[in-house]
Amino acid sequence: MASSAADLHIFFLPLLAPGHMIPMLDLSILISGRGPRSTIVTTPANAKLLRPSLSDTDNPNIHILTIPFTSDESIHYAENLTGHPIPDITPEFFASLCRLEPHFESLLLTHRPDCIISDVFYPWTANLAKRYGIPRIAFHGTSYFSFTVMSVISHLRLYESVSSFDEPFLVPGLPHSIKMTRSQMSSLITSPPEFMAGFPASFKETYGMVMNTFHELEPAYADFFKSAGGMRSWNVGPVFLCRRSVDSLRNRGGAAACEVFRWLDGKDAGSVLYVCFGSLARFTAVQLRELRAGLEAAGRSFIWVVKDDPAAEGSVPVTGEEEGSVGFVIKGWAPQLAILEHEALGGFLTHCGWNSCLEGIAAGLPMVTWPLFADQQFNERFLVDVLGVGVSVGSVVNSTRPEERTVVVAERVAAAVEAVMGGGEEAEERRRKAREMKEAAAKAVGEGGSSEVDLGRMVEELMALKMNRIKETAVNDRISA
Ligand code: UDP
Repeated sequence: MASSAADLHIFFLPLLAPGHMIPMLDLSILISGRGPRSTIVTTPANAKLLRPSLSDTDNPNIHILTIPFTSDESIHYAENLTGHPIPDITPEFFASLCRLEPHFESLLLTHRPDCIISDVFYPWTANLAKRYGIPRIAFHGTSYFSFTVMSVISHLRLYESVSSFDEPFLVPGLPHSIKMTRSQMSSLITSPPEFMAGFPASFKETYGMVMNTFHELEPAYADFFKSAGGMRSWNVGPVFLCRRSVDSLRNRGGAAACEVFRWLDGKDAGSVLYVCFGSLARFTAVQLRELRAGLEAAGRSFIWVVKDDPAAEGSVPVTGEEEGSVGFVIKGWAPQLAILEHEALGGFLTHCGWNSCLEGIAAGLPMVTWPLFADQQFNERFLVDVLGVGVSVGSVVNSTRPEERTVVVAERVAAAVEAVMGGGEEAEERRRKAREMKEAAAKAVGEGGSSEVDLGRMVEELMALKMNRIKETAVNDRISA
């Protein structure tokens, strides 16, 4: 009979995108630190991406198993969302995730884990877990705030109550006054694709939800979620705070150590702005030029991360420091966590992906907010209206297509950067709030902190479920003998 957490074996199935794979890997590290065995199930190309980040964790209890992305030879698109610069392919990509099911099931049969922790984007895992008599826990890569605001807006179809795309509507019943516009809504809300139709049914069969957040960050929204009948949930974040060594920080996500740290070492404390738009975003050449001009005009030292983007050809200088510029450009993947932790950092210009928001919060940085698509517009409201640590650059159209978003001109960029990096009462107040949140995040994951306690609770509950299952099987065996 199972007697310790070491007897517990958990399968993790992350969505095939860095913003979901990275926190789920961190979650598996946290859970395995309590004894259970973690197996991350992913496709071969994604396993290659994860392995370098795993190699410096020193935990022999975490393994990767691979399943084929597809056996259909007509499918030629990449196994990871980052490989899809043309957003048209995205619905097909999501649809193809359903084809992982038979491969995942055959691993379940062979390895018989005690629990599945899978991304919300795999609704079919709920039925599979039921079939095998084990709990499915959904990993939701966003905050309670965004989840709640999104649910209220979708349920009441608030975006239909306005006469134009830029007329604000109030999201009713929330602890704060949150106003949004139709143009800020993702098409996932206004015209949900077919693959999302299975979400509500899958939630009914889901045992609980694990959230990369901490209670003190959004107590009103965690409580709101519960009081509105939300499922059992555990708040165990920020999960990346499990990575404490400098090497582990610098390698996370496969980033190579780079010149940038030498550059940062030569800067004054709190003087540098870090500019990064996550792992997926692309821009038009016009927007890149305006952004660059705005950063230069603000006159503050900056690090700008530019992804492999056709529009960047000719509009962005080569990697490194350019003569006459106050900035340092990183082309490709940046060691974001390690950069944010550097004492020269004074602000973060972010696209408001939830991981980046949490990373900025945990680093105690005020932020310039520039949301682009998905839940990013909600996360912006959280940083600006709820936490009071953000200044919006005024990006008002939610779209994965760069040409559909209105251009944010250089003057707006420079003004928002100056508001965050400059002096004055408001800027100081923002810094104070950001420092407070940094302390709260560290406390939450420390001994006896809310996230640390919730993680322990989750592992204990999964153990108890396993014990019950074993007892029931023993009773059934006796009856049928
Ligand atoms: N990230 C990184 N280096 C990069 C770009 C992104 O380390 O050059 C990491 C970042 O720290 C975060 C994740 O990738 O953990 C991106 O997730 P987020 O939710 O912020 O945005 P997404 O990429 O999903 O839009």
